[in-house]
Amino acid sequence: MLSDKVAIVTGASRGIGRFIAVALAAQGAKVVASARNVEALESLVAEIRTQGGEAVSVVADVAVEAEANNLIDQTVATYGRVDILVNNAGITRDGLLLRMKNDDWDAVIDTNLKGAFLCTRAAAKFMSKQRNGRIINISSVVGEMGNAGQVNYSASKAGLLGLTKSVARELARRNVTVNAVTPGFIVTEMTEKMTDKARETMTEQIPLGRLGEAEDVANAVLFLASDQSSYITGQVLGVNGGMYM
Ligand code: NAP
Repeated sequence: MLSDKVAIVTGASRGIGRFIAVALAAQGAKVVASARNVEALESLVAEIRTQGGEAVSVVADVAVEAEANNLIDQTVATYGRVDILVNNAGITRDGLLLRMKNDDWDAVIDTNLKGAFLCTRAAAKFMSKQRNGRIINISSVVGEMGNAGQVNYSASKAGLLGLTKSVARELARRNVTVNAVTPGFIVTEMTEKMTDKARETMTEQIPLGRLGEAEDVANAVLFLASDQSSYITGQVLGVNGGMYM
């Protein structure tokens, strides 16, 4: 149980982040749901409250320093502390190296890597003082394996693994753990739009023989957020059906 823990989830307006927010709230955490789409966040907060949970929303573009700082400050102003930060906000702007535009490189690095850095730096200030905290970075199997057509995305996700391990070393003495989850192919709106053939080709690469569910990722996050993982830091937990070992 995560009763009385205060958890921030970035990129909570849809997909995996939304699922993580609901799962944390179901375990008793007070959830601060963040993203840029205010309507989607409000509907999430309403859903959590209907289920008896506690949540508020804070609109923030994680790539903008003032907004990332405000997200953490608003959390502390509302609930008095921040125990769990899930850096989940992420985008793709795919393209082959030779055709990749600078803007597409910058947008992906700014959101996926700089956004996590900005939120982590702001939250670490409070977690260090509390001498307690859990930071969980949602990276990707693509950050471990690479992927043709995703140089920007895979670089951002690999960068997140370096950030995870370095911050884990810096904050360990303050009892703040920092870990990464690397999802493989997870069923989301994106994968639902795929052709049956593309899905089949993807599934063939997965030893467990199925795509992952947002729930599979949320379960890993719940474990890393819980007291049961208190001796685990600087680690990368693959949630990929065995496609990368
Ligand atoms: P998604 O459905 O596209 O959701 C992405 C979330 O990030 C949305 O809530 C979006 O909300 C938010 N976001 C995007 N840019 C943002 C910004 N600048 N500031 C704040 N929030 C921002 O993606 P998903 O599939 O759930 O993926 C979630 C995370 O898992 C991502 O980091 C992704 O890289 C990672 N991942 C996904 C898969 C997969 O198969 N789906 C696999 C491996 C890793 P707004 O648009 O409202 O801001």
